[in-house]
Amino acid sequence: MTNGVRPWSTAGIEKKAAKGGYKKGTIEYDNFVQTNLAKAYNSFKVPTIAGYVILGGFGLLVLAVGLYRLICFLANRRRNGLPSKKTKLENVIQKSVTKKPFVGERHAQEYGKGLFTFRSPLRIHVIVLFFLFLANIIPLTAFYQILDPAKNTSWPNNRYAAQSRYFADRSSVLAVAQLPILFLLSGRNSPVVFVTGCSFNTLMLYHRWIGRLVAVLALLHGIAYTAYLVNLGKYTQYWWKYNWFPLGPVALIMFVFIIFTAHRPVIRKYAYDVFIAVHVLLVIAAIATLHWHVYLMDSASCHDFIIWIYVAIAFWAFDRAVRLLRLVLFSFDVRLKTKQRWSVGKVERFDNINVLRITVDLPAPSSALHTSVAYAGSHFYLYMPQIQALTSHPFSLVQHRITQDEQGQCKDQLVFCASIHKGITRVLNAKWQNKTLPIFLDGPYGVRHNILSFDDVFLFAAGIGITHILSLLDGVVEPNPTRSKNVHLVWCIRSIEMMAVAIEVLEDVKARLKVGEALQHVSISVFVTGQGTIPLPVLDNEKRSSPLDEKAVTPSGDMTITYAGTTLTSNDAIMAKSNNTCIHEGKEGLNSENDLFARLQRIAGSHPSSQFELTINQRRADIQQIISEQVTGQSAVFACGSDVFLDQIRNASLQVDASYFEEPFSW
Ligand SMILES: Cc1cc2nc3c(=O)[nH]c(=O)nc-3n(C[C@H](O)[C@H](O)[C@H](O)COP(=O)(O)OP(=O)(O)OC[C@H]3O[C@@H](n4cnc5c(N)ncnc54)[C@H](O)[C@@H]3O)c2cc1C
Repeated sequence: MTNGVRPWSTAGIEKKAAKGGYKKGTIEYDNFVQTNLAKAYNSFKVPTIAGYVILGGFGLLVLAVGLYRLICFLANRRRNGLPSKKTKLENVIQKSVTKKPFVGERHAQEYGKGLFTFRSPLRIHVIVLFFLFLANIIPLTAFYQILDPAKNTSWPNNRYAAQSRYFADRSSVLAVAQLPILFLLSGRNSPVVFVTGCSFNTLMLYHRWIGRLVAVLALLHGIAYTAYLVNLGKYTQYWWKYNWFPLGPVALIMFVFIIFTAHRPVIRKYAYDVFIAVHVLLVIAAIATLHWHVYLMDSASCHDFIIWIYVAIAFWAFDRAVRLLRLVLFSFDVRLKTKQRWSVGKVERFDNINVLRITVDLPAPSSALHTSVAYAGSHFYLYMPQIQALTSHPFSLVQHRITQDEQGQCKDQLVFCASIHKGITRVLNAKWQNKTLPIFLDGPYGVRHNILSFDDVFLFAAGIGITHILSLLDGVVEPNPTRSKNVHLVWCIRSIEMMAVAIEVLEDVKARLKVGEALQHVSISVFVTGQGTIPLPVLDNEKRSSPLDEKAVTPSGDMTITYAGTTLTSNDAIMAKSNNTCIHEGKEGLNSENDLFARLQRIAGSHPSSQFELTINQRRADIQQIISEQVTGQSAVFACGSDVFLDQIRNASLQVDASYFEEPFSW
């Protein structure tokens, strides 16, 4: 469509003048060339250069963060993984920039009501966005070459028309120039995540803000162009004369609608699957319309537009291709070595709580691919084509087991726990309990925390947030530790039955703490705030003291659990009473109440080296107190749970200068 000549090329404009019958050396010729040079400069040169500056600046920022990560990684290797002492400057930066909400004390919780709710970004986000907005505002409002209106051959004596047209063109160029960034920040497999290591949550925050910026620019383009045409009295004429023209307003309406529907309280919060379907379809339609709007103009001015649109589409296609590749590698037996050709999941429900366990058997024999990729804190997207054809849902990997099939071949089994909501999890609960169905996995994703470099690790979970935290716990307790480490897990739950979700990982972690090797110490404090459907067992040795106070456990570490009026002191006795229906014991069912308490008692029972402690408290956890008393500036705090919980932990952790990391389970 275009010959690649930039609209501001003098040679191109002179050619145009000659074609238009202007004679070189005449005033008319000079005015024509000056008018077109000014137009090309004002309308295209300035915003195109600004567009490339924004793209380049973004690239440099990503590379700078990547370089910083690399330096940290190398420094960590040089220290042999030993923790580094945080400097005062690092503390100040974390406290006031990288982890501090822009307004108030809330980042996870929303401000406002109904449609007018918003989440405060962190200050670091605001700083980046400020420079991005500035990089847009400056080329929108400055660097105009003002031509004497009398000499303007395009809009003689009509400064308003000239100015509105320049502004309309600038806003359109800037909007399209940022499409590659917008699309680059939309993918799970974005190279930005790979280089910077940022969370998908952060990526989405920037994606949304840049999306809003692009929509505002498109809106400004529409308003200014309309003003320009109305001023010239050509508005109606353009609708009928140029086939590219009506596509502009159509694309604009779609962009505005995309932004409106992406606002969390509109649909995203209540029907995520509907939102995603609408979002993807609208984006495809809007980009196709925009492409034709530009393409049909058949103008040299649009050369860069088309490139930017194609680059944006390429980023999108790259993400989809990598997703597909990951999904195939994980979920299908590509080497056709086993009878089971794809991954199959079994859905079970825990007794008395709204949580499902989804156990996915991978098809191929255990390979290095499977065993090495799942890491602490990772999550997978689960596709269940029998329920939803195209959408997927993220779940944290709770456990990665190696099992043996009938032929004695080792296979990988991934365990997820999902609380029951109103969408796919409701269908799983209603129709797929104790049944199997094909479940395809796309993953693993999630921030790779350098958790092993901390010697004092605090893990905070509320409710189902334990899934992410268990994965971290699993990763931080090493089978062969080389230096001492303290790991504290604080878990707030409504009913004791919730502990069934964690029991296997806790058993596994306890078993991993070798007798006689006293380097690692794991203490777990569970806070049960409600009664649940069955009474909370009374821990005879539980004292109403500080939750992480060692006095809460008897010197030997022994615990006695009284359940349903019977004091259970011997594991054997409990096992005799229980109906032995847990899958852990190789029988049917997820957990019976008795079995849960038997297992709880077993893990609460003394560890020969007192390295493992479990206290269960029937009260609300005083997070502020726990953190101010136990957490230090050299501790790492990881949190996953409700919005209120996260904000509370972030604020308390920042007060004591701990390194803080969170997983909000939403974006
Ligand atoms: C990184 C990450 C890890 C997660 N790990 C777990 C976990 O281990 N256990 C667990 O119970 N939950 C986890 N979640 C939340 C879980 O993905 C949603 O609860 C689940 O998708 C809800 O499914 P639904 O269709 O039944 O929900 P709905 O009733 O439709 O929605 C319930 C809530 O979940 C959100 N949601 C729904 N679908 C998605 C989606 N595809 N992506 C993001 N959010 C969605 C909605 O916005 C809404 O706020 C995680 C979320 C994220 C982002």
